[in-house]
Amino acid sequence: MYCTTCGNKFIDDPAFCNQCGAPTGKTSNQTVVQPRQSTSVLIGYSSKINDPTFNKYSKKSTTWSFLFAGILAVIAIIAFPIYGNASGDIDWPVSLFYGMGIGGMFLLIALLQTLKKRLDKTWDGEVIYKDAYRQKTRYRDGHVQYNNIYILKIKKDTGGTKKHKWRNIPGPYHYYNIGDKIRHHKGFYYYEKYDKSKDNQIMCAACLSFHDISENVCNRCKCPLLK
Ligand SMILES: [Zn+2]
Ligand SMILES: [Zn+2]
Repeated sequence: MYCTTCGNKFIDDPAFCNQCGAPTGKTSNQTVVQPRQSTSVLIGYSSKINDPTFNKYSKKSTTWSFLFAGILAVIAIIAFPIYGNASGDIDWPVSLFYGMGIGGMFLLIALLQTLKKRLDKTWDGEVIYKDAYRQKTRYRDGHVQYNNIYILKIKKDTGGTKKHKWRNIPGPYHYYNIGDKIRHHKGFYYYEKYDKSKDNQIMCAACLSFHDISENVCNRCKCPLLK
């Protein structure tokens, strides 16, 4: 069978010509696979950052950090009086106040971290410098330890630079290159690359895990990959 519009020869009995798209008059029992509009864009900043999954993810992580701080606070409040009583160093109720002070500090740290995230702003910049080297640390007992240090410097479009230093974490160092245009998204420890067209990997904005560039969703935290 041939297409009446363009003369294309069909191997099976399609409902549409696969070359020109003309209907063949046949109602195919096969599902017509429409050319799927690509939702991934490898050049340009992704609008998927507005996906509600990200909001859910950051709410969840805020809850976790408060829960964690709360548990530490309870431990401090219980442990200080017990320690004070056992050692005889701190008297009751002073030991309780110590515990409450330390516990309150854990909660304050969690609160400040959340506040910092809330006040954070989205900004654009460019990677201007990166460096990797081995750092030798000699301990008092003579034993020597080597660490791989990775440095990344970013110039903000609004002025100022941001420097990152990672110890034994090579991922981001290899992922970004000098000259890359990047965007920092409010509340995330992640930079989205403007141009991902030459990459074979993509990083999850939320959990910072690496994925094949063909993937659309992070299989670890279910957030959409920004492309
Ligand atoms: Zn045709
Ligand atoms: Zn993820």
